[in-house]
Amino acid sequence: MTQLTIIVAMDTQRGIGIDNTLPWKLPEDMAHFKRVTTGHPIVMGRKTFDSIGRPLPGRRNIVITRNPDWRHDGVETASSVEAAVALVAGQQAFIIGGADIYRQAMAVADQLIVTEVKKTYNCDAFFPAIDSAQWREASREEHASPSADLQYAFVTWRRQPAPAA
Ligand code: NDP
Repeated sequence: MTQLTIIVAMDTQRGIGIDNTLPWKLPEDMAHFKRVTTGHPIVMGRKTFDSIGRPLPGRRNIVITRNPDWRHDGVETASSVEAAVALVAGQQAFIIGGADIYRQAMAVADQLIVTEVKKTYNCDAFFPAIDSAQWREASREEHASPSADLQYAFVTWRRQPAPAA
């Protein structure tokens, strides 16, 4: 069965990026991202790929772009979110950003893995609101990062079952 999980780190205002980069340096979140996604396909927007700059090892990298000529070694392309979802049929895949792709993928995702960074940054890219009629918080782990001097939490949200007809 296909399982689509959105994985994202956001600040207190749902900010996720500034100038096509991450607003914070949080090594514990990088390690969490690697641990959770390794061995699974990852799906991202072309701008997020540009921001990372290379395919991430140990994962099938799928980049969504409208440009039919866009190519990069070690990367598969998809021309829409639906086309990317079709490429990962039957697998447990992760949608890793950015804002444009998250907005579209909220309609098809089963699960959200959110790192809440407990600080506010001057972001120019944002995650959409999480509608509590559609999503329920399933788990929460609170942490503190001594190296980054930041509080953060790993939170899992699951899609609410559709109401009986
Ligand atoms: P995205 O990474 O979402 O990429 C947008 C691009 O994806 C578009 O320009 C287009 O590529 C392609 N695209 C989007 N929708 C479609 C579609 N329906 N069909 C085909 N192609 C499509 O860009 P954003 O600017 O929204 O987000 C980037 C920001 O997010 C950065 O600041 C980054 O650092 C941040 N980020 C933060 C994360 C976090 O967890 N905090 C994680 C990931 C990113 P093209 O122009 O080539 O056609």
